[in-house]
Formats: sequence, C-alpha cells, structure tokens
Amino acid sequence: MKSLIAIVMLLPAIVFADILIPDTAPPLPPNAEFPQGVAEDIESKGYHVSEIRDDIFWITNGDYHVMAVKTYKGVMIVDAPEPLPFFPPMDVLGAVAEVAPGYPITHMIYSHAHSDHIGGAGIIKEAFPDVKIIAHRKTKRLLAKMNDPKRPVPTKTFSKSMTVKSGGKKIKLHYYGNTHMPGNIFVHAPKEKILMVVDVTFPGWVPFRRMALSDNIGEWIKGNKKVLDFDFDTLIAGHVTRLGTRADVEAQMEYVQDIIDSFDSIMGDPSTLFNAIGAYDSVHGPGAAFETSAKWALFSAFYDASTKACSDLLDAKYIEGANPGDNLKALAGAEAFNFSNCEAYFVARRLGVVKVD
Ligand SMILES: [Zn+2]
Repeated sequence: MKSLIAIVMLLPAIVFADILIPDTAPPLPPNAEFPQGVAEDIESKGYHVSEIRDDIFWITNGDYHVMAVKTYKGVMIVDAPEPLPFFPPMDVLGAVAEVAPGYPITHMIYSHAHSDHIGGAGIIKEAFPDVKIIAHRKTKRLLAKMNDPKRPVPTKTFSKSMTVKSGGKKIKLHYYGNTHMPGNIFVHAPKEKILMVVDVTFPGWVPFRRMALSDNIGEWIKGNKKVLDFDFDTLIAGHVTRLGTRADVEAQMEYVQDIIDSFDSIMGDPSTLFNAIGAYDSVHGPGAAFETSAKWALFSAFYDASTKACSDLLDAKYIEGANPGDNLKALAGAEAFNFSNCEAYFVARRLGVVKVD
C-alpha cells in the first residue's frame, strides 16, 4: 500500500524499545482477506466503494467503514471516520462523488460518538452546511460537552427508535443500550436487508483490544446477540477488511463463549492461584508472596496467570496455522488481542459487573 508507506515515512522517528512485537506473525486467515479489488482500489485512490445492493454502498479505507444510501434527493451517510496516520484518510466526499456525482449529502448519521468513527464529520458539514445530523440523544449530550469542531453536534436525536425517510429510501435506527458505549445504535435498511452496527462484531477478525474497548462488557456481549435478532444478509461492522454475515456474528459469539468457559474453569481451579504464589516465591523466596510488599504483585501474578491460561486456549484455536485441522476457525489478529480480550472479561467477571445468563 504505497500511500500507507508514504504516510508512515512522514512520521517522526518511532521508539520501539518498549513495544512488544511478536517475532513471528501468523499469515492472514483466508476468511479475513480483502474481497477482490478492494486492496487495489485502496492503493490507487485511498478508498474502495461498491454497491451492496439497491443503491446502498460500502465505503472503506481498509480499516474503517461507511454506509452510503443514494436517494433521488441526495445521499445519506452513516459515519465519517477521522483521518488517522495508520491508514489512508477516508475520502468520504470522493467516494460519494464517484457513485452519486453532483448529489448533495443530505443526512449524516452517527453510529456513536467515538472520534475515530465520526472525527471526519466536520469535513462533511463544511462541504454540505445544510446536512441533517442524526444521532442518539446520549451521543448529542456527549458531543455538546466535548465542543469538538471535528464532530458537529447532531441536529436531530432519538431515544428508542426512529425512521429516516428521504428520496424514496427508508432506514430505521434503534437503540438497545450500552452495547459499546452509551448512544451506540443499530442502523437497519429492512427492505435491502443491510444492517450497520459498529464496534460490536469484527467479521473475520477477533474483537479489537479489551473487547472493543467497550464500556460495559456484558452489554457488549448482549449487543452481539441483538444483531442476530435483525433480518439482514449483510453487516457493515465499522471495521476491518470486509463486510459481514450472520455466520461472522455466530463465529464471534463462539469466541466470546470460549472466554466465558475458560473463566469458569480457571476460577473453579485453585491451581492458578497456587501457580501465581509459586511463581512469585520462586523468584523472591519461600513465603514472599504473602509479604505486605507483595500485595499488588501477587494480584498481578494471579491475573496474568489466569489471563494467560485463557489466551493459550484461544491461541490454539484461533491463530491461523496453530491448529491445521481446524483452520476454518482462525480469526485475524488473534495473536495480538487474545490476551487483552481475556483480561477484559476476567476483570469484569471478577468484579461482578457481567451478568451471566
Ligand atoms: Zn467505538
């Protein structure tokens, strides 16, 4: 990706001394590869845009996703990602002009308030000052406080659900609580069977660090189940290399269930605690783990040992090539985020803030 190399070369010198990079990277699982033509488009113009069906389009820069709905009055978009140094900046205006030349952007819907997904909204508003900006009321409340010109405050909000109609097209917005952060919404085109839900499911990939950096792990897990309640064929998940399907949601739920099962078995097995005590004592001497000075160190050893037991199980199942007979389960990024996903769940369960059904 030439543009990416150019961007990285412009960055100031990066110090890698304290950053852990695995010395061997697994190959990308086939299930996580770009669909045909996507990587080539991103390399040549910084984005890819294609019609999913019936005038609803997917725009991506290879990591972030935007939904665009062409109507006879203009274009409605969902999200406008922030330009970041890691990827080509998402040229939403260029992509929209390519599929709907001369059409204005009439509506901009925010999936949620996080700046990486909507920090390009100011650029859209500047180009189309009359654009209607729609979001959940909690998103508006947060953005009003932030006063960030990159994320203009919504002009219209809703609490539970809302239907947006324009130029012969209809999409429905729904809210089911803190499925990633307060105000994270489900965007559904029922006729076209397309659903956009961001930072909940990661098609072909493991969830981003610490279960997508979600505020409430239990509600985030419920969000995955809620996705399956919708009638859809195509999921725009907000991230990574491709669009998703119901099978991707089921695959991620299996991944999460493996973490839950691992927690239950490790917490029911006192050997993890004894291993942590033994590991500390073997370095600092017999009985050292129970010295006052070791209080935090013992907790740290216990959490690390529990988390590692969980991530070892996930590594064997989900890292491409780790289990040659079962490569269909492999998910991209497993080597990077298995540990932190296990840790996020373990901490939430230990503190009793995840309800187990
Ligand atoms: Zn987010």
